[in-house]
Amino acid sequence: MSQPQMRRAIESGVPDNRQFLHPLLKKNYGNWKYHDRPRPGVLHHVAHSGEEVWTVRAGTQRQMDVWTIRTLCDIADKYAESHVRFTIRSNIEFMVSSFDKVGPLIKELEAKGFPVGGTGNSVSMIAHTQGWLHCDIPGTDASGAVKALMDDLYDEFRREEMPNRVHLSTSCCEINCGGQADIAIIIQHTKPPKINHDLVANVCERPAVVARCPVAAIRPALVNGKPSLEVDEKKCICCGACYPPCPPMQINDPEFSKFAIWVGGKNSNARAKPTFMKMVAAGIPNNPPRWPEVSEIVKRILYVYKDDARPWERLSDWIERIGWPRFFEKTQLPFTKYLVDDWRGARVNLNASTHIRF
Ligand code: SF4
Ligand code: SF4
Repeated sequence: MSQPQMRRAIESGVPDNRQFLHPLLKKNYGNWKYHDRPRPGVLHHVAHSGEEVWTVRAGTQRQMDVWTIRTLCDIADKYAESHVRFTIRSNIEFMVSSFDKVGPLIKELEAKGFPVGGTGNSVSMIAHTQGWLHCDIPGTDASGAVKALMDDLYDEFRREEMPNRVHLSTSCCEINCGGQADIAIIIQHTKPPKINHDLVANVCERPAVVARCPVAAIRPALVNGKPSLEVDEKKCICCGACYPPCPPMQINDPEFSKFAIWVGGKNSNARAKPTFMKMVAAGIPNNPPRWPEVSEIVKRILYVYKDDARPWERLSDWIERIGWPRFFEKTQLPFTKYLVDDWRGARVNLNASTHIRF
């Protein structure tokens, strides 16, 4: 009788992370007595078994060439039994089994240009989208804006001097990646897309583009005898969602694609519930290569928060306590009509789309 065939492994989904854990973490998994932070950038975990492990966290530039990765791997081979892990903000962590290795590891990381920090109440490395390299719709180089800003916030990463953790993020378009952050820098289109009618019929699946618009502002049209699309500019909210499936609907513009700053987002439910971000500055120039206007506003918000918040208040908790009018007074940001989200007509617009009914 033939043996039943073993079912083949399904090669999809997230692999079991335990196979990649540092041996000490694997051995003491779920069995930790306590942890503390002996200095910024270093975590110290003590297991019930009495074993100890030190974790040294360093900032990376997220987009790394193979030589940089090899450098980091060589450091891991030398100090961390060849184990590393990345955090959600693209920091790299080296787990070290002996305290004697911590000092030399920090020295080597910093000598090679990787700042050690990002633990506790610091400004963590900025999570940024990387569309400039690989995506088809970016309106800016988010990584460049991050580089310019982190050059200024370098010491806030290496120290733990904020009232609570500060997460920053950037997004190079309005609609896709990025996420809730204490302070977020997001592209903001301010004009509807410009349509190249000669190309639409060849390049775009028109029903898919019509369905894509969240406010039903796009409809099919015949232009110069060719099938094309038209946009009701009064309805258009300049989100850019039509541009990925239909590149001839160009929305990126050197002048009218700006930046907006949003604050108060938080995924964590520690101490207070998770919160959505709100826009506090709009129409900021998209000004490479250093985006000074963006950095200036982010730093202004950050340092007012640092001075004014009580210990352990996240940025959203601080604003909740002082109120939005005081937030604008203290940060000296102008409150303009562009920040008002009154949702007039939202019900009609959303009901007209194929996505949502209420
Ligand atoms: S934010 Fe937008 S443009 Fe940037 S990588 Fe994500 S989808 Fe692409
Ligand atoms: S998808 Fe967005 S940008 Fe395109 S027409 Fe609709 S609202 Fe305007």
